[in-house]
Amino acid sequence: MNDTAPVLSVVIPVYNEEDVLPTLFERLYPALDALNRPYEVLFVNDGSRDRSVAMLREQYQRRPAETRVILLQVNFGQHAAILAGFERSRGEYVVTLDADLQNPPEEVGKLLAKLEEGHDYVGTWRTNRQDLWWRRMASKVINAIRERTTPIKMADHGCMLRGYGRQIVDTINATRENITFIPALASIYSSNPVEIEVKHDERVAGTSKYSLYRLIRLTFDLMTGFSTVPLQMFSLVGLVLSALSGALVFYMLARRAILGPEVDGVFTLFAIVFFLLGMTLFGIGLLGEYIGCIYVQVRQRPRYIIGAVLEQSPHAPPAGRE
Ligand code: UDP
Ligand code: MG
Repeated sequence: MNDTAPVLSVVIPVYNEEDVLPTLFERLYPALDALNRPYEVLFVNDGSRDRSVAMLREQYQRRPAETRVILLQVNFGQHAAILAGFERSRGEYVVTLDADLQNPPEEVGKLLAKLEEGHDYVGTWRTNRQDLWWRRMASKVINAIRERTTPIKMADHGCMLRGYGRQIVDTINATRENITFIPALASIYSSNPVEIEVKHDERVAGTSKYSLYRLIRLTFDLMTGFSTVPLQMFSLVGLVLSALSGALVFYMLARRAILGPEVDGVFTLFAIVFFLLGMTLFGIGLLGEYIGCIYVQVRQRPRYIIGAVLEQSPHAPPAGRE
């Protein structure tokens, strides 16, 4: 099967997922077999330190014709892992999936159908989302901020079950930018996007790899990576505040001239000063976010480092299945 390019590549990042991999293998392959298209599954191991690598090797032995495993040297993050998968994918269409089965593999067919209709990017939103309440709250806030400050329009940017046409994948691969969020980039490049609804389940086992801190980081990266609106907003806020403080200074001067020296209101003044200090610090931090992005970009470090790849050579004789 491998000597012709597959129709579908499924890219799955894996980071310490030993608890879920057996169930994933059990559900994923039958679901993809049922689609009746030549396919490949690209597992990208993102520097797992548990038994994931050994399990991926076993799965490669079981289904060598459809399975490819990319082993990254250390943990580079979910999106870098997906990118590694993108760059090695051969399919006409690429679908990304989480390893933890929160995105049911049985839904891949729906995405493939949309891709085959000619949509070059298939976004998704989750019905009946099964996550902890604070994650759902956080996502709502992040979605709202992103919607207002960036050109990215999506119903739900958290869901990673998404489909991409070959041209979009090639464009993303050619982007020499430090990509922190692949769907956002795809939604900008796409000329014929569509969004569909998909089911969402609880993580079958293991724990989420995202802490609140990592979510906040992702939000900042999303904003700074796709928009300069926060910077511009900040100069506007700065402008308004300086106008107001200027007015305050005149007012205080006038009071002094008319009423003479007075100490009343010192604390109000303190409050105002602290507020302005806070704004200034936030502004410096915001600048730092952008400078940090530029710094990462100019260093041009590799986005990921591949340690080994398990795959059949494209011209190998078709392997028998077990
Ligand atoms: N993941 C990864 N590298 C990381 C963090 C996560 O490859 O540094 C993978 C993880 O194995 C899973 C997917 O990204 O397949 C989504 O992670 P997770 O389920 O922990 O995120 P959540 O569903 O909580 O957003
Ligand atoms: Mg998950």
